Amino acid sequence: MRIVYALLLAAAASLAQAAGPTPEQDAMLKRLTPDALRGHLSFLASDLLEGRATPSRGQELAAEYIAAQFRRFGLEPVGDDGYFQTATWGYGKRDMKDFTLSFTVGGQTLQVPAAAVSLEGAAAFSTDGADVVRISTPDAQIAPGSLDGKVVVVDLPADLSDAARTAARRALGTAMRTARPLLRLAFDRKNPNGDGGQAAVLVDPEERHANGGPVPTVVLHARAVIDAIAAASGPVRMSVRIPGPELKPVKLRNVIGVLRGSDPQLRDTYVMLTAHYDHLGLVNGKLHRGANDDASGTAAMMEVAGALASLPQRPRRSIAFMAVFGEELGLKGSQYYGRHPVLPLARTVADINLEQLGRTDDSEGPQVNRVAMTGFDFSDLGPILQEAGKATGIEVFKHPVNSDRYFAFSDNQALADVGVPAHTLSVAYEFPDYHGPADDWQKIDYENMARVSRMVALGMLTLANQTQAPQWNAANPKAARYREAARKLVQP
Ligand SMILES: [Zn+2]
Repeated sequence: MRIVYALLLAAAASLAQAAGPTPEQDAMLKRLTPDALRGHLSFLASDLLEGRATPSRGQELAAEYIAAQFRRFGLEPVGDDGYFQTATWGYGKRDMKDFTLSFTVGGQTLQVPAAAVSLEGAAAFSTDGADVVRISTPDAQIAPGSLDGKVVVVDLPADLSDAARTAARRALGTAMRTARPLLRLAFDRKNPNGDGGQAAVLVDPEERHANGGPVPTVVLHARAVIDAIAAASGPVRMSVRIPGPELKPVKLRNVIGVLRGSDPQLRDTYVMLTAHYDHLGLVNGKLHRGANDDASGTAAMMEVAGALASLPQRPRRSIAFMAVFGEELGLKGSQYYGRHPVLPLARTVADINLEQLGRTDDSEGPQVNRVAMTGFDFSDLGPILQEAGKATGIEVFKHPVNSDRYFAFSDNQALADVGVPAHTLSVAYEFPDYHGPADDWQKIDYENMARVSRMVALGMLTLANQTQAPQWNAANPKAARYREAARKLVQP
């Protein structure tokens, strides 16, 4: 009886070993501790780093800190300046003394002072008597060419639900991306004063050359003028003169390090793990420290790098770790990488992007021991992470709505666009302090975050060790454009 029991135990042990991590992998996973993650987060989301706005001294300190961790783990520097990939953009302020703005409504001219506007968009701009097109229904159809040479304002009814408003804005945003109006006007009925055009402007010189730069936006805060425009039954015309900013060069940095693989055939192929290290900085006089968004993803990325670097046997493929700037300004850093890849894209087999891994208090209820993956059935990558999740106690799942909806709203998108199977992992999509001044490091669930990080480490290891590279899903029409991009990568 005792012998049979011992045999059974031995059989069970060997079975467990076949299915789960090896002792070396287990030791690697044990390095991913709550304390290590808390350490990184308490620094990245500290007051000293001032919310890591793009660009800022706080962000530069964060970049240097991330590079220091990569150096500590012995990663290979692959940037133009050690671990840094440097983008040199323009940054500066406008001199607003020549600013003028007026509207003609029903034969009356309404002047608006600079103090009652906020400005977005980079270049100098002026127009005299342009037609203002008002879009006031969520299902408005925008015919091609119908906004050419016009000012457009989206002014949806106040009683729309948040979900309907978001959906309408996205649909209109997509329609307007190809329409390219002269200028966008926006109404702010809550705050009587804007920034007066004093906010600093960041200019990507490549964007300016590619398509004339971003469409300028004027946010109007003057309530009486807003009401007059909204109530007008006849045509409304707008005249504006916006002075251009005086730009000085500023350096923005992605931070990239490589754990070189061991397989002679596969070591020149790459699996990427990415996260954005920027946040909002100072907003309306309040520091936004961005602990969950996305110091959490950055901290997990760094600790996974350290854990994988500790393995006695290197993974077969190389693994690239990258922290990107400018996500909060519209995925700027990852898009820059997509245009200027440091590692060959045709040999980059996958990207896992980490966003908001720390908070479990989601608006849909506690998210403990589970991680959502965007574009879950866009590629065959999901099941690989699900296996890693089984071994580490994490359920990797497809969120019924957000999986598809949020695929394009994080830094995985830039790599997907060029064909690399790329997805974002998040624990909570919406949490109470999202983009607020209280997204602080003390509120993170570090125990859960450590378990999630172990799943990520094991998943990255599986991806790096398996010969077969992940593929876009041929059966899903939503993945068709990415599949096509992937085909062009291999056969340009
Ligand atoms: Zn984020």
